[in-house]
Order: sequence, then structure tokens, then C-alpha cells
Amino acid sequence: MSYDLKSLVRPNIWRLAPYSSARNEYSGREAHVFLDANENPYNRPYNRYPDPLQHEVKERLAKLKAMPVEQIFLGNGSDEAIDLAYRCFCEPGIDNVVAIEPTYGMYRVCADINNVEYRTVLLDEHYAISATQLLAATDAHTKLIWLCSPNNPTGNSFDRNEMLSLIEAFDGIVIVDEAYGEFSAQKTLRHEIANHPNLIVLSTLSKAWGCAAIRLGMAFAQREIIDIFNKVKYPYNVNLLTQQQAIEILDNPYDVEKWVTMLLQERRRLMEAFQLLPICEKVFPTDANFFLARMTDAQAIYDYLVNRGIIVRNRSRISLCQNCLRVTIGTKNENNELLAALRQY
Ligand SMILES: *Cc1c(COP(=O)(O)O)cnc(C)c1O
Repeated sequence: MSYDLKSLVRPNIWRLAPYSSARNEYSGREAHVFLDANENPYNRPYNRYPDPLQHEVKERLAKLKAMPVEQIFLGNGSDEAIDLAYRCFCEPGIDNVVAIEPTYGMYRVCADINNVEYRTVLLDEHYAISATQLLAATDAHTKLIWLCSPNNPTGNSFDRNEMLSLIEAFDGIVIVDEAYGEFSAQKTLRHEIANHPNLIVLSTLSKAWGCAAIRLGMAFAQREIIDIFNKVKYPYNVNLLTQQQAIEILDNPYDVEKWVTMLLQERRRLMEAFQLLPICEKVFPTDANFFLARMTDAQAIYDYLVNRGIIVRNRSRISLCQNCLRVTIGTKNENNELLAALRQY
């Protein structure tokens, strides 16, 4: 492969001089009088702009994820990193991306918003990827390939060697979204970044960490890519309340391990119970905190559950997911309520 970052980045972005915020410019000496940013001196601590590069959060993440601080980007959800990938790499109306189908909807939404052609390659009947097929869908204008492992909505993880052979064979950027990585039995790909300059791995506090409301997502990549994301992002893209709350949860990872263990136990119980339901035709293997189930009549069952105040995701109109419901694992009581309702259907 002949990877060349400069040839992948949009020329205007490559040339871009980053906005220099007041808080970026001074460095070195300890300071205590801040008259540089037109802030109000009252109403502490909310009067001050937050750290634009979120050092305290990143130092904790660096330890937890065993990644250098310079290889971490933080954004307003992983959704920000997804959008930035388009804005940094894809020239609207000219470049394209390749993605698996079915997968997370935001890859396509951001492609459409940025006017970038979105090419899809259908997973096989076991929801597996083929590196050869994905490569065959690329051309000289393909900048990104999107993978999501464990995949949403199918729940399965992809074969590690198949993903690595794609990353090695493709001259552009491969983005692997590991939003559900904490639930997975598979090893993360982020430690392959050292050997693969064209790899970006996404992660988030929204799922296993139980912090969807604070909006904190992350991208791991070699420093050259992280520097480009930081140049393009809004200067204060992660607000102070989010940074404070992230530090709080990252200092208590014990809770997360406990939650993951409980959810995996409940996942097994719920899936076994689904397999016994006459209205359930198939439960697909999963590596995430949700599973896909093929039902006799997904739409009718979905409507029935809504009427009882129970909401699952109807995925029956998505490719390869005919008659499928996607069920997130809840608390024991929530799962029991769902099962009781389905047994009465
Ligand atoms: C839920 C989810 C995310 C999380 O996005 P945030 O913006 O970080 O909340 C990312 N990717 C996938 C595939 C998801 O399912």
C-alpha cells in the first residue's frame, strides 16, 4: 500500500491555520490574572472558557485506554468525530466513502450533509465482512472506509484478520467504530494504530460508561490525524460540565465493569428467553449490549409493545434485517416486563 496523508486530506484543510483562542496562546509560566478572553470575572467556575484540548480528561483516558494523549481526540459525541472525518478528508461532490450495510445511520447522514457519495457493500448472510468486496467498491476518490465492530444493528463483531487485511490493503483511511467495544469479547483494534497510520478507532462514553447525556466521544489515531481534527473542530467543542462529569466517571471505572458484567448476564438470559418465544424465529449472535431478533411479525409486535409503553427498535425495513427487532438490554425488571408482555402477545 502507498499511504500518504497529505494526498488524503482536503487541500484547504491541509493548508488551514487553526483558530488561535486566547486560552491557547499563553503557555509556560503559571498565570493568575486572566484579562485575555473577554470573560466576566464573576460567576466562577462557569465564567471561564473550558480547556480547548481537554487535558485532564485525556490524561485519564490515556491511562485507561493505554494510548498516548497526543493520539486522542475528544468531541461532542463520536458523532462529532464522524462528521469531522468527512470535513477533513472528503471533497464534496468529488470524493466518496465505502461503508458496510447495514450499519450505524450517522455515517450516511454525515455523508449526505457533506455532499459526499456514500457507497455500500452488503454484509453476507452471517453479517460478516469481506475485505476483497469492500476494496472492490473503492476507486481513486475513495477516502474513507467505515467499519463498526461490534456492528449496530447486527450486534456481531467482525473477524480481526479480515479488518486488518483491509486496513493493510487500502491506501485511504479505515475508521473502525468500537462504540460497543466494552461489551465485546474481541480485542480492540486501537493498539494496531502504532502499526497502521491509516487507522482511526472510535469510542464513546455513551454506552458502557452510561454517559450518553454528557456527549463525549473519542477518536484514536496517529498524531498527524488527531492534529488535523483539532485544527478543524470548534475551539471549545467539549464544555466544562461535560469535562467535569467525564473526569468523575473515568475515576470510577469500577462501576462500569460492574454494569457490563450485569448487562452481559442479562443479555444471555433475555436471549435464551427470546429463543423460547413462539413469535421469535431467530436470535442473532451478539457481542454488544443489544441483540437482533427475527420475529413472526416485527411491525405488529413493535406496535403492541409501544401500546404497553415498551419501546424496542424496529429494524425490519433495513437491508438483511427483515422482520427484525433490535432489543437493548435493560435492568432485570425492565427485561422481565418486556418478556411478560411478549409472552402475552
Ligand atoms: C451509539 C453509537 C455511537 C455513539 O455516538 P455518540 O455520539 O458518542 O453518542 C457511535 N457509534 C455507534 C455505532 C453507535 O451505535
